[in-house]
Amino acid sequence: MRKIVYETKIRPLGFCSILFLTLFFLPLLCIIVPSIQKDCNIIEIIKEFPFAFLVGLIFLLPILGQKIVVQNKKMSVYLWGRKKWTFDLTVKQEAELGFYYQDKFDKLLHRDRKYFSIQVKKEKQKVSFPVDLYSTKQIRTILFILNNSANSKFKDSRLNGQERYLINAHFIQSNCQEESSKQKHCEFCMKEIVFKSEYEKWYATKDRKYWICEKCFEDFKDMFNFRLLKNRK
Ligand SMILES: [Zn+2]
Repeated sequence: MRKIVYETKIRPLGFCSILFLTLFFLPLLCIIVPSIQKDCNIIEIIKEFPFAFLVGLIFLLPILGQKIVVQNKKMSVYLWGRKKWTFDLTVKQEAELGFYYQDKFDKLLHRDRKYFSIQVKKEKQKVSFPVDLYSTKQIRTILFILNNSANSKFKDSRLNGQERYLINAHFIQSNCQEESSKQKHCEFCMKEIVFKSEYEKWYATKDRKYWICEKCFEDFKDMFNFRLLKNRK
């Protein structure tokens, strides 16, 4: 059976979470490194460990407490280890990226402070959750799931996480007259390009890195918001 790519667990792996992880290890390193230089007793080092660990934990907890689980046609968003938001993926909804989310304290004390987050609109309801610890690619996948899960094409077996690098991509049309040393294939159906074929129409990203066949381009252009650029003569 095909693995369902969008039944997944996403743990934050963005720049901020890597920075936080580094800050978690920093207090531990601050103990170990000087101790080695001074040739300290190993027991002395171990004694200081719990303190350094606790200090580091301040940076580790936000990362450990966040995850997004997509399962059984539902997306659950966890914050501080608790499931805070659940989205029904069978209904049509609109999700977008921006500065929306405010926690309880911000609403009281800093009304202008808003976090980098995803806002989900469903009928008249608007809900937002923070995504500042997630990477750009992870955010693209989260948005893609929320915006397209109710679409009948969402279950298409050709979808395999292409949104991470092809969402909103610009394409040029090519009839594959150019020779290439590397064999290229369609990013969706894996069909191989026959170069110098006059009958086939293909689409390529501007840098010619990714190619898409005519059928897949037509099938997915709306879902991925592909834009077609005019070819230079
Ligand atoms: Zn294709």
